[in-house]
Amino acid sequence: MSAKGDMFYAWTNSSEIKGECGGAVATLLQYALSSKMVDAVLAVAKGADVYDAKLELITDPAEVPKVAGSLHCGTLLIPKMVKKYLNGAKDMKIAVPVKGCDAKGFYELAKRNQINLDNVIMIGVNCGGTVSPVVAREMIAEKYGVNPDNVFKEEIDKGQFIIEYTDEKGAHQEKGIKIDELEEVGLGRRSNCQRCETKIPRQADLACGNWGVFGDKAGKATFVEVCSEKGAALFDAAVNAKVLSTCAPDPKGLEIRGKVENVMIKMGKKGQTKQFAALGEGTEKLQKIMKITSRCIACRACIENCPVCYCVECSTAKPHLVAPGQQPPDFMFHMIRFAHIADSCVNCGQCQELCPMEIPNALLMHAQQVELEKMFGHKPGVDMELPVLGFAEEAAERARLNATGSDMIYENVFGEQQ
Ligand code: FAD
Ligand code: SF4
Ligand code: SF4
Ligand code: SF4
Ligand code: SF4
Repeated sequence: MSAKGDMFYAWTNSSEIKGECGGAVATLLQYALSSKMVDAVLAVAKGADVYDAKLELITDPAEVPKVAGSLHCGTLLIPKMVKKYLNGAKDMKIAVPVKGCDAKGFYELAKRNQINLDNVIMIGVNCGGTVSPVVAREMIAEKYGVNPDNVFKEEIDKGQFIIEYTDEKGAHQEKGIKIDELEEVGLGRRSNCQRCETKIPRQADLACGNWGVFGDKAGKATFVEVCSEKGAALFDAAVNAKVLSTCAPDPKGLEIRGKVENVMIKMGKKGQTKQFAALGEGTEKLQKIMKITSRCIACRACIENCPVCYCVECSTAKPHLVAPGQQPPDFMFHMIRFAHIADSCVNCGQCQELCPMEIPNALLMHAQQVELEKMFGHKPGVDMELPVLGFAEEAAERARLNATGSDMIYENVFGEQQ
């Protein structure tokens, strides 16, 4: 029997699953489905090419092998999709692979009663970062001198972004460039990933990765850390059913994993310091934010894709708060978002990645979140603790709107309207 905190090397016994390393994640997803622990698997699969990561909802266990493998240009965020299209997993049990930002988004929606976490098994994947598909194509053409359409595989390994591609003569080639070198010139991982400190997502039920897989198992096994009772139950059942083989991790591997995690966390903190400092301080900072946001076209993509924004009646759409039809919208549009969600921002980057005007929304929000965390000690996305500024609950909000016409969406943690 495994328990929270236990660690293993694990690998699949299925010849169908071609995993990124040991295939443990795909095997666990498949076992959760075939054993009827869940009704469906929601996972990320390769679409048209390596830059196209898409979500697949799978109900037939035989289909799970197609979601094996890691897509480093997969910048999508899963929890908001679960809220929007699967009714917050309220009437369906699902197993989902999650990066750190996915796991954090699940918690933020769950604490607002928008997702039922009891119905979700989160299989975490360690995450060194993702590269925006647009940037990936650009840097592969410019820095690698390779036609992006000829790339059939990419990976991030030992600090390099490595591509495998077919050259003009049809031969397979491989080329890697140091991520530091790419990031120095504004390429490489998304800027929110450069600030990210969630490297091993222990808020998931299991945390899986390749860091720490050492010796003869390197590249052939998945490092699995058990993070909850739910995770332990799935892992044990999969091992007992003999779909997964395991052994104890190499002590040297354990040490290396710990060291790499610490280095990556330090890099995330360094990224924060550097990027936040560039925003300046006080009035200068405010003026800068007003200038940057003045190119906003009020398309609302930032709101639509944020895992913390979900309100039926968004305050930014209230005519008495933000005059309708103006471009750019009044600065109040952005102030409302800052006020409502800065305490809960999980730095997932969606509001920036999907902004057509390339406004660094995630940077602006994350900078405030870090300050609020220093002041109030509240860390978003790690557990079910309520946010500092408010607690919005959609059903109650709708009832209050109907009954009173009040648009005050926030109640403080003591249940009083602010
Ligand atoms: P598989 O059995 O191949 O299953 C992989 C699962 O990941 C699949 O279910 C697939 O749907 C899902 N997936 C693929 N792409 C994404 C995505 N973009 N977002 C969410 N889910 C996705 N491990 C480390 O130890 N260090 C790292 O720095 C590191 N960086 C990673 C960065 C990214 C973007 C991803 C997706 C994974 C990263 N991993 C990292 C985890 C590692 O690549 C493997 O996913 C993990 O070791 C599990 O291996 P496996 O063979 O068991 O996975
Ligand atoms: Fe990975 Fe963090 Fe970037 Fe999310 S924000 S993709 S967890 S590095
Ligand atoms: Fe404005 Fe960008 Fe948000 Fe669209 S996504 S509303 S342009 S900030
Ligand atoms: Fe993610 Fe942006 Fe929302 Fe923060 S504000 S949680 S970065 S979408
Ligand atoms: Fe987001 Fe605030 Fe709009 Fe709700 S009202 S969707 S929290 S900006």
